[in-house]
Amino acid sequence: MADTARRFAQQKLKPGYRSREAAGCIERTLIQEMGALGFLGAELPQAQGGLGADCVTSGLLLEEISAGDFNVGYLNLLVSLCGQIIATHATPDTSIEWLPQVIAGTALPALALTEPHAGSDAARLKLKARADGDDYLLDGEKTSISLATQADIAVVFVRTGAEADGAKGISAFLVDLNSPGISRSAFDDLGSRAVGRGSIFFDGVRVPRRHLLGEANRGFVQVMHGFDYSRALIGLQCLALARTSLDETWRYCAERHAFGKALTAFQGVTFPLAECETQYQAARWLCLRTLWLRDQGLPHSAEAAMCKWWAPKLAAEIVQQCLLTHGHGGYSSSLPFEQRLRDVLGLQIGDGTAQIMKMIIARHMTGAA
Ligand SMILES: Cc1cc2nc3c(=O)[nH]c(=O)nc-3n(C[C@H](O)[C@H](O)[C@H](O)COP(=O)(O)OP(=O)(O)OC[C@H]3O[C@@H](n4cnc5c(N)ncnc54)[C@H](O)[C@@H]3O)c2cc1C
Repeated sequence: MADTARRFAQQKLKPGYRSREAAGCIERTLIQEMGALGFLGAELPQAQGGLGADCVTSGLLLEEISAGDFNVGYLNLLVSLCGQIIATHATPDTSIEWLPQVIAGTALPALALTEPHAGSDAARLKLKARADGDDYLLDGEKTSISLATQADIAVVFVRTGAEADGAKGISAFLVDLNSPGISRSAFDDLGSRAVGRGSIFFDGVRVPRRHLLGEANRGFVQVMHGFDYSRALIGLQCLALARTSLDETWRYCAERHAFGKALTAFQGVTFPLAECETQYQAARWLCLRTLWLRDQGLPHSAEAAMCKWWAPKLAAEIVQQCLLTHGHGGYSSSLPFEQRLRDVLGLQIGDGTAQIMKMIIARHMTGAA
């Protein structure tokens, strides 16, 4: 499956990496093709349109897709993250209504947690839901949401209890983003412009009670466990860019000559790349092992946090090293390194910053988790 995904990504995704940035979106036909080929949410249950594969397999597919176009890899990430949340916490009716569409690439999912005043400290969120008969009415704003401009549905974290209750007063809902009362605006981002990060505004949006994910007021505690999965996937997504950049750079060094020799003859050129190779391998194995732990049903929160703080940072450093090794050409938009660097920087913040990840690791090590 990974071989098929690699061929697809190299032939169909890689050539459009730059033009998708200019367009500010990912082509729907392409996404549906990915769905039909089984590249999205492969680990989700067969009964709901997935392949029932393991999380390691899904990670390998995401890695191949991201090597073709890092931003298309966001789709794999969000389908897996939201798909697992829906499969685990939605009612059977809600799940069967939406999950097959998500996996087929006909309904794009987003995850809406961050608010203007609540990012790292997400439990302070304010978006309010009030009960109205068999429905809830949602009012407030989510911001910094990946795929905000393109998504059809979102897993939205909402305050159903008192603000003083913190995390204990938060529920998660599946919201149809084409509902009346929803509006969106796009950010002018440094990178990953094809993903369309932005804000989603809720003005009396009616959501049926059966769209509750998990129990009322327990959504934060129950659903947030899904992030242990996305953190390992993000590591692989970022490292895929590093791998592609390293492969291209080794080839370039063999072809480019200076002072009468190929660049590969100079240890000043090859030693930094050798260090990148070593760290790349270690980080990739950490991500794959974290997915394997998940597949075995073993604890992996600390490992997932390690993947999330280290792999995106390392990938950015590797891409920067590859850019520098390409000399003046690396700095130009005629080569993809500058776009890759801009793109990969975002995921040092998205899904939680390094500081928050290190807090999670420290809590586990000190027994406070
Ligand atoms: C590319 C990208 C994609 C994103 N996609 C999504 C998405 O799809 N859905 C979504 O809900 N959100 C998304 N986000 C938002 C992201 O999750 C938040 O930006 C992130 O959690 C940090 O929150 P903040 O920006 O409000 O920073 P703040 O919480 O205000 O933090 C600012 C700085 O202070 C540091 N800090 C905060 N508290 C502490 C502490 N206790 N100790 C040490 N340092 C601390 C942080 O690490 C950070 O460096 C995305 C962000 C980006 C950049």
